[in-house]
Amino acid sequence: MLVSLCVSFFVAYVIYVFAIPFIEASFFNLAYPKKKILPPQLEMKWANRVLLRTCEFLFVGWFFYFGASIGSFLNVVAWRVPEGRTIVFGGSKCPFCDTRLSFIDNTPIFGWIYLQGKCRTCRLPIAPRYLLIEIAVGVVFLWLALWQLVRGGANLPHWSLAKRTGLVNIVLDPEWLLIGIYAVHATMFGVLIMLATANVGKKPFPLFYLALIGFGLASAKIVQPSLDLVAWYQPFSKFGFSNRSPFANPALSMLLGGLVGGALGWISSFAFARHFGAIVGRHWTLQCFLVGTVLGWQSEVTILMISLVVYGMVRSAYGIYRPPLSHWSLANQALVLNACFIIVALVHHSFWIQIAHLLGLA
Ligand SMILES: [Zn+2]
Repeated sequence: MLVSLCVSFFVAYVIYVFAIPFIEASFFNLAYPKKKILPPQLEMKWANRVLLRTCEFLFVGWFFYFGASIGSFLNVVAWRVPEGRTIVFGGSKCPFCDTRLSFIDNTPIFGWIYLQGKCRTCRLPIAPRYLLIEIAVGVVFLWLALWQLVRGGANLPHWSLAKRTGLVNIVLDPEWLLIGIYAVHATMFGVLIMLATANVGKKPFPLFYLALIGFGLASAKIVQPSLDLVAWYQPFSKFGFSNRSPFANPALSMLLGGLVGGALGWISSFAFARHFGAIVGRHWTLQCFLVGTVLGWQSEVTILMISLVVYGMVRSAYGIYRPPLSHWSLANQALVLNACFIIVALVHHSFWIQIAHLLGLA
């Protein structure tokens, strides 16, 4: 299993670094047989191109694996914090036989695959949840890196595009503000995924820790006001608010976002309580609060509305083709609702600037 993983990694590398440029060049020569000049990405020297594409390949791998490691940590947080156990001390153990996991067994993604999802000692299954969450957080971190960071923040409303874009310019010669925005947004999505996982557990995530995370993320706005991308008074700027008025304060934006998000989450959780018992309600409010404080009340309202519609569609589609969703366990239904919310939030984030234009926010 691990060998095949290494082989596919190597094959992907060869395809990206050698095969794709070769195919591109062949197509170009076929399309313009008389042209001697190649497009810039094919014109560079062979060795330079290998170097650049190797960097790009490693960069992609690094962001994915960085996210997977964060996901691995968040998994521990999601399971230990509600139980009142420490996350700082004590390595991971098998829940059945208490065998301590070795360094290799504990490596994100590879560890699970290496063990083939079974404990080394007692051979009882390790939940695929660990693998899935590591992959999910890895994918989110990678996606935000490629779509937001490398493109110079092209998806962000009210953001003057970084003068330089591209991997080398943003990361190797750091554009710190953009990297900060990336860090805040990536962390927010990580925590959303963590809360969705914690839904499956028996105890709720303690409010205190969450408030700490929420205010930590949001207070980045107070330290660095440029993080407040859509001011709270949009789309009502015609009432005399401008970025010069004393009310145009990122702290106000954060407070209002949290209030609106928390209130909407709290109200809608009553409706869910009827469907799911208390399973969604307890973390749902906090998820809405978090999105409100970090992205602003406008994004929270948009994401909430769309995700409810999407969830309704999934429900009815599932009802048409399979036994009705009510046959699912409550925890599974809650997970589907959470997945809808997080996926909609990610799509909204990817096209934030277009959506903001559409809604008159930018
Ligand atoms: Zn075991």
